[in-house]
Amino acid sequence: PVPTTLDEDVVVLSDSDNGPTPVWRPPALEPPLSRDPFGRDHYWFHRPVEANANNAILFFYAYGSDGPDKENPWRIHHGIDFPNPVGETVRAAADGVVLHGAGDGLFQNTASYGNVVFIQHDFGYNGQTLYTLYAHLSRALVRSGERVNAGDVIGLIGDTGNVSGPHVHFEVRMGGDRYRDTYNPLLWMVPYVGHGVIAGRVVDEEGRFIEDAEVTIRNWATGLLLESSPTVTTYVFNDTGSDVQPDPRWNENFVVPDVPIGKYELITTIDGVRIAEVVEVFEGRTSFVELRPPVPTPSTDSP
Ligand SMILES: [Zn+2]
Repeated sequence: PVPTTLDEDVVVLSDSDNGPTPVWRPPALEPPLSRDPFGRDHYWFHRPVEANANNAILFFYAYGSDGPDKENPWRIHHGIDFPNPVGETVRAAADGVVLHGAGDGLFQNTASYGNVVFIQHDFGYNGQTLYTLYAHLSRALVRSGERVNAGDVIGLIGDTGNVSGPHVHFEVRMGGDRYRDTYNPLLWMVPYVGHGVIAGRVVDEEGRFIEDAEVTIRNWATGLLLESSPTVTTYVFNDTGSDVQPDPRWNENFVVPDVPIGKYELITTIDGVRIAEVVEVFEGRTSFVELRPPVPTPSTDSP
């Protein structure tokens, strides 16, 4: 069998002090959840951290992003990070079997991911196997081969491996257990009561993805920036054979999590031109938006 692979060289995160501060959150909805009328949603997983821990991801290092510093790009992020103090509990996102855990020579004390728990889930999606990965743990508390149920404690948050602040790095892999098999976890974790998710794409006139574009998210009624994720950047692909991947159903190149229901304006700039679209967010669902330059209208003047 092909061995499961980790990321070999994760960039250093900035201090978790810069991350969002813990805030009160409503309870999460119950997985599996798919309220999209066309069946495109697959919110199969719980969040990997406690409800009263910090559930807000490090928005400036989103899935597919190379970080906030344009001069010194970080390694493309294949997961999402929940900054939390060392020792906070990490929980299984769903039922499954621990493929790699405590006592595993390959997946503990790694230079990049530190101590890791890697779970193969009991269910898949469209005939494809689903896996979740939890990295930088101070300790893995389950052993390879152990069965776990959703919500079981599987480890403790730490700062092992290549990090500069304690957090859990969470990945969803599908169809394969390798580094190149990741998808955006934000399209797999159940939203909160009263909240939804925005998935979208920023494309050029021909519909091709524009990489590393910054999208600003404003409440359409109040004009205020979305507090938890005021901006998001589009996925960066670097043709290494281990790129991040858009969801097979949504074909997005950015995702905004934890959006209270309501209308939002998403704004980006393409070739110096401001492009904006309004999207309505519904509870427990993905709303899709495309930001694309308008096709220039031909002049109607007679020659
Ligand atoms: Zn990470």
